[in-house]
Amino acid sequence: MKTSKSTYTMIISMLAAICIFTFSGCSIGSFPDTGKPDSVDGKKLKVYFLDVGQGASQLLVTPSGKTMLIDAGNNDKEQTMLDYMKKYHISKLDVVIGTHPDADHIGGLDKVIDHIPVTTIYMPKVQSNTKTFESLLKSIKNKGLKVKTAKAGLSWDLDDQVHVEMLAPKGTYEDTNNMSAVVKVTYGKNSFLLTGDAEAESEKAMLASGADLQADVMLVGHHGSNSSTTLKFLKTVNPKYAVIQVGKDNTYGHPKSAVLSRLQKQGIEVYRNDKQGTIEITSDGNSLHIVTER
Ligand SMILES: [Zn+2]
Repeated sequence: MKTSKSTYTMIISMLAAICIFTFSGCSIGSFPDTGKPDSVDGKKLKVYFLDVGQGASQLLVTPSGKTMLIDAGNNDKEQTMLDYMKKYHISKLDVVIGTHPDADHIGGLDKVIDHIPVTTIYMPKVQSNTKTFESLLKSIKNKGLKVKTAKAGLSWDLDDQVHVEMLAPKGTYEDTNNMSAVVKVTYGKNSFLLTGDAEAESEKAMLASGADLQADVMLVGHHGSNSSTTLKFLKTVNPKYAVIQVGKDNTYGHPKSAVLSRLQKQGIEVYRNDKQGTIEITSDGNSLHIVTER
């Protein structure tokens, strides 16, 4: 009786030891202290169109774990953005782009910069006297960052095979939306065109520049407003998938029906934050895999 009881205790202890070993092994494997996001997959580029309600934010994680954040939603999404950074285990941002000074794009960026180390930040040469903009500049200054001017013609490798090209702004525009930084991200045969709030004027300039605008995935400009996604631009980009970053029941009436029907007529598959939550697009350099939150 005594023997069997101690054998039983020994088995339990061994099982517990195995459990602890396995568990710690697992946690080390999934999120090591190297600061690499757990979404890192040696061969895949992940592009998250984060649901920030009426606003915009795109997070990119490259095959080797390099990260890029474009915009960060409105001021009331600061905590939401920090939650996303936690959720995707983002402990550093290699590149941050504030496409233009509108609150629905840069509102949450100050808190992100306060909490996550940033290597490089790009913003277009346009000033704003809003509290939101001033708060962002304060966070940038506190971290000793120097803003690089976002403009057409810049390009860099975010990872071995992930290339980023800035296609806009081409010039100086009175309308801040047209000052939006627009980037094309290419990985193997796949490409993403992330347009900020660029409107017809900027689209025209991008078309005139002769840059290769074709992309598999296009962020629909200015949340699906009539001011953007001109037919010529859409036909040239010729995306298979379009994403609209828009909030439920927004007061702007975004996305506009004319834009939706334009997308439909071109046979483009449309994804929307208001209907599907965060949209996660994974590329292996050849094909795309899309997962939506709902
Ligand atoms: Zn906007």
